[in-house]
Amino acid sequence: AAKEAGRDQLVSFDPTLREKRLEAARTTERLRRAIVRDELIVHFQPLIRLADERITGVEALIRWQPPGQRMVPPDKFIGVAEDSGLIVPIGAWVLRESCRVVAAWHREHGTVVSVNVSPRQLREPDFAATVLDALRGSGLPPVALILEITEGVLVDSGAVTEQAIGHLSMLRAHGVRVAVDDFGTGYSSLAYLRDLPIDHIKIDRSFMPAPGDTDPAARTLVKAIIDLASGLRLGTIAEGVETAEQVALLRDLGCQRAQGFYYSRPVPADDAARLILESSTVTS
Ligand code: C2E
Ligand code: MG
Ligand code: MG
Ligand code: MG
Repeated sequence: AAKEAGRDQLVSFDPTLREKRLEAARTTERLRRAIVRDELIVHFQPLIRLADERITGVEALIRWQPPGQRMVPPDKFIGVAEDSGLIVPIGAWVLRESCRVVAAWHREHGTVVSVNVSPRQLREPDFAATVLDALRGSGLPPVALILEITEGVLVDSGAVTEQAIGHLSMLRAHGVRVAVDDFGTGYSSLAYLRDLPIDHIKIDRSFMPAPGDTDPAARTLVKAIIDLASGLRLGTIAEGVETAEQVALLRDLGCQRAQGFYYSRPVPADDAARLILESSTVTS
């Protein structure tokens, strides 16, 4: 109890920490109402196959649109949603919504959808059932769904997290694919790439050489990651591609897919549908 009191005292003497807590509590309350009021929406960002520059998939990215206010980006509320546990119902909704929207695109154009999953969701005993329900409810086949996780989900301070791996292995047996998001930014042993249930890696955008960067080190790193993934028969997707030079480099190094502002920002479903249609009808 003394320790608790001591900690509280420390907190009350630190206005910034106290302010942060209050702010988080307020955001949690607003977010709780936002769910009920349907203020959450999903935007979609195209994933482009570099061989023919066609859109083969989209990443679902959540947005919060409070009426009459500016759109809130996920960085501003995903952390709070994770801490409060609200990410569990929110994540289940993103899965249902993404599968529902992309089912039609998949039927017509073979489009697949990538959905971000937070570590908190994978700790739920019924996570795999939630995913399978979203698939069944939408008619989207499991092979058209990719779950994006971060390295930390699979390997937590060196130890493999059995529950997450159980869910992912079960879902993969149904045909669902798994991608490691922000690859290269977490620090863990590379052995997990061989041993754990994954299909693709997404090369973090921090590895994209900056415009005008002539330092060969940048290229060396990207090449090493692509070669490693290819050698392990994992798919490669480059994130945060913004320039034609980066596209040329990635193609040169044998990267399979790219995603970034160079091709398209994340856009509302209607706009994504139009982009997919254009991409599939263009004759190359
Ligand atoms: P992420 O999964 O790594 O998603 C990629 C982020 O990079 C997106 O930010 C996207 O808008 C941004 N991006 C894409 N291309 C470019 C580019 O060329 N340049 C730059 N500078 N940025 C680019 P966004 O939408 O703000 O999402 C941020 C993060 O929030 C995501 O990173 C993901 O970790 C998380 N997130 C988004 N939606 C969800 C969700 O439904 N569930 C969960 N758990 N997390 C989500
Ligand atoms: Mg992602
Ligand atoms: Mg990413
Ligand atoms: Mg990223």
